[in-house]
Amino acid sequence: LGGNVLIRCTAFVAAAACSSWPAFAQTVIAPGTGVDILSHKLEITPDFQTKSLTGRARIRLKVEQDGLREIVFSKNGLVIDAARLDGRPVAVSAGEKGLSFLPAAPLRKGRTITLTVSYHGKPARGVNFTETSVFTSYWACDWMICSQDTPADKAGFELRLTLPTGMKSLAVGNLQSAKAGPGGRTVHVWREARPYSSYLYGFAAGSFTEAVSRHGRYELAFMGATDSPQSMEALFGTTAAMVRFLEDKAGMPLPVKRYTQLLVEGSEAQEVATYSVIGLKQIEPILADAQNDWVIIHELAHQWWGNLITSRTWDHFWLNEGMAVFMTAAWKEHRFGKAAYQGELDIARARLGRAREAGFDKPLTFPGPYPNIATRRAVQYSKGALFLDHLRTLVGDEAFWAGLKRFTRTHAGGAVESRDFQRAFEESSGRDLTATFTEWVYGTGV
Ligand SMILES: [Zn+2]
Repeated sequence: LGGNVLIRCTAFVAAAACSSWPAFAQTVIAPGTGVDILSHKLEITPDFQTKSLTGRARIRLKVEQDGLREIVFSKNGLVIDAARLDGRPVAVSAGEKGLSFLPAAPLRKGRTITLTVSYHGKPARGVNFTETSVFTSYWACDWMICSQDTPADKAGFELRLTLPTGMKSLAVGNLQSAKAGPGGRTVHVWREARPYSSYLYGFAAGSFTEAVSRHGRYELAFMGATDSPQSMEALFGTTAAMVRFLEDKAGMPLPVKRYTQLLVEGSEAQEVATYSVIGLKQIEPILADAQNDWVIIHELAHQWWGNLITSRTWDHFWLNEGMAVFMTAAWKEHRFGKAAYQGELDIARARLGRAREAGFDKPLTFPGPYPNIATRRAVQYSKGALFLDHLRTLVGDEAFWAGLKRFTRTHAGGAVESRDFQRAFEESSGRDLTATFTEWVYGTGV
């Protein structure tokens, strides 16, 4: 054992779990190290009065590192009430870097184990409660046991959500059933077989309005968590045309059977594995000008680039976000013409310009740290989109769109790095793109 020794009994860990801690010290390793998470089966009961929740997690995972002594997940503010590994009590430790489960003996590589964890608490981030509704956004590992920053480790997801009867629900996957549960409440079961990254898990519940329309193979659903004076049609009416556009560019159908857009108060713009959360402030400008439709196409584009195909680490996050911004520009070109495409790229150019003035124009795979989120976005979102436009000009339209289809089809369901992206465009164009990728993506010395 080496490194920092951090074992502490904190308020995050219930007394029962604390008392069973082993006397020996453990090395603190990064969340997700040495394991492949196979599936999450969750039971969650939100408490709308106290804005807290009670949960039970059943996590199946495969050990990938011989002699593994710790299974570490992202640190969160939840209180662990009990934890078992393959049915036996297992010690828990909340350290600086994460929430650790400490098996009695080191684990063998290749072994598949089941961790069951009961917990409760008020998540510090990622859960937005009102007295009658709840929706999550991005920080999944604040309300469930998972690793937020290992997007390459995708896992299946099942959620049993216990809610006051009459509420509607939304979660990753498809609603399997909604049946009478304990205390006159209703248990909604959601399930998704396709593995997704943790940051894409989510759920919502409330007295939502709902509208569903069928479009051949898939359905589009709109759920309103807020009273909008405008109809869903006025706000989201172009979604089906956007799906057709993106299917054509991806060379692959919409990855989900039903895509839902959940309308909430405020400025949310967050993709979730099989749906998106969209704030009224982001979508309302569309009523004044149809060209203000970026939030619909951006989050929808993530269904292919981000959710289905995910950057292996955050160093390659531009593959998610640069693509979503670029596809927004491409959609605008398709619907409104070349000037609208350039207009979108001009916004990106201005944002990158501000980062450049601050002395922070970095290659797309710059690992950080960034001084602030605006600068990080100026590189990963704005510069990412500008690079795609540059690549399109360099190889020409035909090879560019063929390369995008090749990349998308080759890596559907997987996790990618910038080299995978480069390879697809080199194959479609028949050109060596090393110089361009070195300049824009890897930078000198990367
Ligand atoms: Zn995005």
